[in-house]
Amino acid sequence: MSVPITVQRKLLVRSRGYCEKRGEDFAFVEPQIHHKDRNRENNKMENLLILCPNCHSEFHYNVDGTLKKKDFDMIQEFPYCQC
Ligand SMILES: [Zn+2]
Ligand SMILES: [Zn+2]
Repeated sequence: MSVPITVQRKLLVRSRGYCEKRGEDFAFVEPQIHHKDRNRENNKMENLLILCPNCHSEFHYNVDGTLKKKDFDMIQEFPYCQC
């Protein structure tokens, strides 16, 4: 994972151990870190969300399984957010 461990810890403190979209408990689901701008190198706190795997995939995929337009556009310029 490209996000530094110190940043991961700060995100867990900010989220109090719950998914920042729908509040799933990270005691039961594995946290994943999402980059809002899709740039894996941008590890500023305001660019990051800590999410459960289901909510994370909703940021990248439409219900029909296709990539969201933002991802489709950004994939050309940035390494894909595979956090
Ligand atoms: Zn992501
Ligand atoms: Zn969630």
